[in-house]
Amino acid sequence: MHLLRDIPALAPFRAGVFVPTMGALHEGHLALIRAAAERARAERDRAGRACPVIVSIFVNPTQFNDPRDYARYPRTLERDAAACEQAGADALFAPSAAAIYARDESGRVLAPKPREEDLPEVARLPRLEDARRPGHFAGVYQVVKRLFELVRPAAAVFGEKDWQQLQLVRALVARERMPIEIVGRPTVREADGLAMSSRNTQLDPAARRQAAMLWRALEAARARRDPGEAERAGARTLLEAPIEPEYLAVRDAETLGPPDARSLRPARVLVAARVGGVRLIDNAPWPA
Ligand code: AMP
Repeated sequence: MHLLRDIPALAPFRAGVFVPTMGALHEGHLALIRAAAERARAERDRAGRACPVIVSIFVNPTQFNDPRDYARYPRTLERDAAACEQAGADALFAPSAAAIYARDESGRVLAPKPREEDLPEVARLPRLEDARRPGHFAGVYQVVKRLFELVRPAAAVFGEKDWQQLQLVRALVARERMPIEIVGRPTVREADGLAMSSRNTQLDPAARRQAAMLWRALEAARARRDPGEAERAGARTLLEAPIEPEYLAVRDAETLGPPDARSLRPARVLVAARVGGVRLIDNAPWPA
């Protein structure tokens, strides 16, 4: 596997399958890389062309609305590189901030952070992530667009764990007219249902036990067929933990607007809460 530190080094790895991450890799990330490797193999067999698997690791400061969260985000590049290789990556792109936020001769950032009001609607709905983390999705849009322009993949693989982000990335490629297929993959969970996350290492043992209640709350909501009842059942489960939810909401899976009870459009139940000082998010198809 090749470790790529600058933009020119990317040239031999174009038109591949791309997995963008912030590192501190766990089984959830590795499942994405294995899925990418499988797609790349199928593409090589089908089209008889080289199709590299490329992973990126970049802890993007512009998507952190809390500087302390950015400062304490785990950074484990050496271990991550070994795990990437094992999972089937051909290249690991670990750029500097200077490469991502490169400037033109007049000092303007080539890929600036968009204004909130210019983001696709899916990232501007009140109450979910956008309301709780101002500037977060603008930072995500900025870095994903820049990474896509640099890596120029044929396909990119994202986790359903960050459901609203996945919908934003789909909206991004449509708006920017980027010929990149966006592939979503299911959330990988611990035995007690807790969604794997790089932030889980920050939970102390008591908070770690409590965190499993997020999944229980989603299951309680999924067992109800009325959206209002589902939200109340999920919130009750959290309050018993006791966990104060930031939100627990049933939404249209694609637009993230209110679900339309009469239509057959898929819906999703999404949750965010702080547990032991660590902010966690999760979601699942609704109803079960
Ligand atoms: P991150 O490093 O947190 O930015 O995540 C990088 C990618 O891994 C994103 O597409 C996430 O949705 C995905 N991911 C994170 N956790 C999981 C998980 N438990 N299962 C599946 N995918 C995940």
